[in-house]
Amino acid sequence: MAFSDITRKLFSFGQSGGNKTEYILAALLGLVIIGALALTINTYMGGNKPKAQEIIFECASCKHQFEVKPEELYSEDSAYGPMMDMPVLDCPSCGTKKSCWQTSKCPACGGRFISQSMMVQMQYESRGQMAPQEMMRDVCPHCGQDIIEWYKQNRKRR
Ligand SMILES: [Zn+2]
Ligand SMILES: [Zn+2]
Repeated sequence: MAFSDITRKLFSFGQSGGNKTEYILAALLGLVIIGALALTINTYMGGNKPKAQEIIFECASCKHQFEVKPEELYSEDSAYGPMMDMPVLDCPSCGTKKSCWQTSKCPACGGRFISQSMMVQMQYESRGQMAPQEMMRDVCPHCGQDIIEWYKQNRKRR
């Protein structure tokens, strides 16, 4: 009698132990599911983040604008090299070689344009000269805003 009691107790203990294991397993599975969900949500949210920086190129020949991914531009095996800060690309629209320049964004209207001061600076630098200050101006071709003036005024307002 006493022996069978112990067996019964052991059996029921073993059973409850088994239930506990199942419970822990279920809890673990729940955690894994929550973890997977959190990861999915994280990835989703990450995908919705605003882009670090849009790099828009414009063809000086046909005015075609296109976006270039930073990794395409600055990847190690890129023809332009990782340290080249002013890459010139071939136009994917009209096919003109070395005709596409990185654009600046107008702070007033948001339009994209090739910075004139950048072009002037590059021309002078290629001759080993400093660009004169009065040449270093940028006017937005979309709205006619003087970019340097805009920044001057904006700084004053703050
Ligand atoms: Zn073009
Ligand atoms: Zn503008």
